Amino acid sequence: LFSSLTPVPYDEAYNVKADFDADVHPNKVNLGIGVYRDNDGKAWALPSVELTRRQSEIILLQKAIPSLPNNHDYIPAGGLPQFVMAAQKLLFGSLYSDIRCRLASVQTISGSGACHLGTSFLAKTLKPRSVWISDPSWINHSLIWEVTAPDVQLKFYPYFDAGSKSIDFSGMNLALESRAEKGDVVLLQACAHNPTGCDPTHEQWKQLADLCEKKGLIPFFDIAYQGFASGVPDEDAWSVRHFAERKSMDIVIAQSFSKNFGLYGQRVGALHILASEASVVSAIVSNLVRLIRSEYSSPASWGCRIVAKVLEDPDLREKWLRDLKQMNHRIKFVRQALFEELQKLGTPRTWEHLIRHIGMFSYTGLRPEEVKRLKHEYHIHMFSSGRASVAGLNTHNIIRVAKSIDIVVRD
Ligand code: PMP
Repeated sequence: LFSSLTPVPYDEAYNVKADFDADVHPNKVNLGIGVYRDNDGKAWALPSVELTRRQSEIILLQKAIPSLPNNHDYIPAGGLPQFVMAAQKLLFGSLYSDIRCRLASVQTISGSGACHLGTSFLAKTLKPRSVWISDPSWINHSLIWEVTAPDVQLKFYPYFDAGSKSIDFSGMNLALESRAEKGDVVLLQACAHNPTGCDPTHEQWKQLADLCEKKGLIPFFDIAYQGFASGVPDEDAWSVRHFAERKSMDIVIAQSFSKNFGLYGQRVGALHILASEASVVSAIVSNLVRLIRSEYSSPASWGCRIVAKVLEDPDLREKWLRDLKQMNHRIKFVRQALFEELQKLGTPRTWEHLIRHIGMFSYTGLRPEEVKRLKHEYHIHMFSSGRASVAGLNTHNIIRVAKSIDIVVRD
């Protein structure tokens, strides 16, 4: 039956992880997948989240609080209401009470599921001609649109200037201004851009909002790193809130809790559609729920309770805000330390971008053949584009990583 099926390549994230797992070197370094790691290279279980999990499990065992489940019942297809509201408030902050009547939100299978559901919804309802994706972007963005909405044409706007290793804002603006058409979707990462580590400034976000408004483009935000850019979730949602304040646009937002809660495998996320008019909200929600029912019926029920609890409880929320700051500080520290080591070694090329870049990733400028040597000769794993997930750096490996980079760029 399947004899004509040809194998398709696994994506690079899959391959980098597989190569890292297969590498038996005791001092291998993981600069591949975007997972925040502690100074010992372990995926960090945030203390605020762990405390909540443990407390919830004890309460659950004692069956002391009726609102917590003492069984494994389904949650509603659109998600756990307390979680959905907590997700909305985290995203919109003080703007929430003004916009809530225009907001259609559902729980999703993390950020990937939110991107997928949003794509599927737009493809079925608005049938856009094209979607504009940053070049480069998170590799799954193109794949999700390609597989979910094959009739929508993928187009790419320039995003990264390889010379200055900064955002190519004029290239981005020019491409969208001159080539995007009314009704096209524009995929935007709200903060801590994956893979480049470069974000637009507030002024540039304003220009992008003007452009979307003027041309009738549909902004589709992906916010997977709220708290990772500045350390403060309210600041990192600035772009989304600015677009929301305009009131003139319908905007789509895919929200992930994988990174900022360290709940990667729990698959916690939400999709929000902020409509320009309140009257359409119930129709949007019912259509989203229909898609959910056809795909996985209802979302996972445990991680969302942890997120809701942390965000609703003032003490836990304070602890979580401190955890975010701690991750942010460590990332800045390892960026600075790698930069200083390369300076000490007098490594050719410039490396200031390592400290200028924002969030978990840097486009290092390392070339594919150099990345290959780093893997084969020095057991340092990253993407062939030179993207490094800097959270994999720590005080035990920075000197070795710097020395290895120094060798491969000199040869
Ligand atoms: N968007 C971006 C830009 C990402 O980097 C990621 C994770 N790598 C996601 C969305 C989704 O992650 P998850 O499905 O784990 O929430």
